[in-house]
Amino acid sequence: MLQVEHISKRYGTTLALDNVALTIPKGVCYGLVGPNGSGKSTLIKIISRIIREYDGKVEFVGNENGRLGYVPQDISLEEKLTAKTNMEFFGKVHGLNGLKLKQTTKKLLEDIGLSERTNDVVENFSGGMKRRLNIGCALMHDPDLIILDEPTVGVDPQSRRYIFNIVNRLKKAGKTIIYVSHYMEEIETLCDYVAFIDRGQIIDEGEINELLKRHKESSIMFNSSLSHELIKSHGFEFSVVNSGLIIKTKKPLETMERLISVSKENNIVPHQLFLYKPKLEDVFFKLTGTDLRDEE
Ligand code: ADP
Ligand code: MG
Repeated sequence: MLQVEHISKRYGTTLALDNVALTIPKGVCYGLVGPNGSGKSTLIKIISRIIREYDGKVEFVGNENGRLGYVPQDISLEEKLTAKTNMEFFGKVHGLNGLKLKQTTKKLLEDIGLSERTNDVVENFSGGMKRRLNIGCALMHDPDLIILDEPTVGVDPQSRRYIFNIVNRLKKAGKTIIYVSHYMEEIETLCDYVAFIDRGQIIDEGEINELLKRHKESSIMFNSSLSHELIKSHGFEFSVVNSGLIIKTKKPLETMERLISVSKENNIVPHQLFLYKPKLEDVFFKLTGTDLRDEE
């Protein structure tokens, strides 16, 4: 549905995006993840037509007049107005009026969990409530493509749950979503596809399961009374951690079987033997050498 080709963007001498290419299929939740300053917001501002000066091309395939809902990283609401008035303002901008405007506002206030605050002014809202309202405003015109820039930064757990529910509801409704975050767990929970961005470049992209398969070596945790020398003599390569040995392998089941048979031969029972589930975070680290968690 959306094709991004050879996009580069400079701010003065800063190269914020360096020849970025992406294809975002219709109806998927597409995660965009990378450390702070890697170019995420710049890229989605270009897709959202907020930044209009750049090199390259953005193409909406078969969706020329497709409606786009953009939720910026920085909340933009009228603080002195009520939740309802803010929502109605965004609705009117997109041509809603009369009964349709009223009904949409009511329904969305329920979806974002702010029905009881309908007539309260925004300046008294918590950060999480403002964030939810900002999302509601972007959904007034029932967009086909919804772009959320770091929607959970600095919000309370309750708001975070609401935001996840909103995203899941949009997914069920068949919407296309671009979800920008530097929290890998969120991407793993919500998204079907992901693009890793680092220093303005797309490092890798694709379906999450496929990416995990392609990049991740499995790790086995093994803890036993066997000596390191003995284990080494059987051809295992490992690193030592507090709780035992971590053995990297491309054939995890075979490796586990071999560990069990070496244990049996030596008449011992391992204290621990288990497989680590591959994680997106590890793939990102392997590709970039950057740990997202250090970027807080
Ligand atoms: P992210 O959203 O991943 O944190 P941004 O797209 O906001 O990254 O920023 C990418 C790079 O471009 C950073 O180096 C940032 O400092 C720079 N940058 C972003 N916006 C501007 C701007 N308006 N003027 C100058 N530099 C900017
Ligand atoms: Mg950003």
